Amino acid sequence: MCRHVGYLGSAVALSDLLLEPEHSLLEQAFAPADMRGGGTINADGFGVGWYREDGSTARYRSAAPMWTDQSFRDIAGEVRSGAVVAAVRSATVGMPVVPDACAPFTDGRWLFSHNGRVTGWPDSVAKLAARLDVVDLLKMEAATDSALLWALLRQRLLDGAEPAVAMSELVGEVAAAAPDSRLNLLLSDGSRVVATTWTHSLWVRRGSAAVTVASEPFGARDGWCEVPDRSVVVAEADDVQVRPLAEMGER
Ligand code: GLN
Repeated sequence: MCRHVGYLGSAVALSDLLLEPEHSLLEQAFAPADMRGGGTINADGFGVGWYREDGSTARYRSAAPMWTDQSFRDIAGEVRSGAVVAAVRSATVGMPVVPDACAPFTDGRWLFSHNGRVTGWPDSVAKLAARLDVVDLLKMEAATDSALLWALLRQRLLDGAEPAVAMSELVGEVAAAAPDSRLNLLLSDGSRVVATTWTHSLWVRRGSAAVTVASEPFGARDGWCEVPDRSVVVAEADDVQVRPLAEMGER
């Protein structure tokens, strides 16, 4: 299952965040430590989204394994940002291996990633997908479970839902429709990272005026806390809250 990272804090070079640290996302692509439920490496592409100083987003995605992409390595030392969402992908069997299927998915100020799979996709979630209108479907970047989850979440966000509540409710609905799914979602708007755990690993590290939310710890060994299963994390640069998902979904 894919690995993802969300970072908020002082501006860092993408290479210092994603390539250089011990057990960085780059290493998690070819030697992940805690894959669950299928997949051994994350070789089906990667994506990096970051926020510019004016709050707008930029993104680099490729269907190549992260460790083979010299072009990304060339620019990663030049790009600095204080808010980043990145992911390496292990495609679920039957899903396309194309750049557009790699997280982060985006719309406006949002960057979104999904670590996991929707069991029985697409039939199991056909009723949920039917809520989308034709334009939402045409805007789906790939025919994957993750792109569908983003379309469903995006609809709630555009309706004005609070991100943690929208994500909690979505996880609840998808888990009911497709039991045994793995639904670790991660969303940022550049000033917070909201993430869920649903049968997959997630860790949080608070540094000095920085917070990192990641599938696996990397870099500094101290300060990482594992997020319990079935939780929602709301992380800002100076504050982290972890709550049971049920509590949020019932609001
Ligand atoms: N199911 C998603 C995909 O195929 C995510 C894969 C994963 O987390 N390994 O893109």
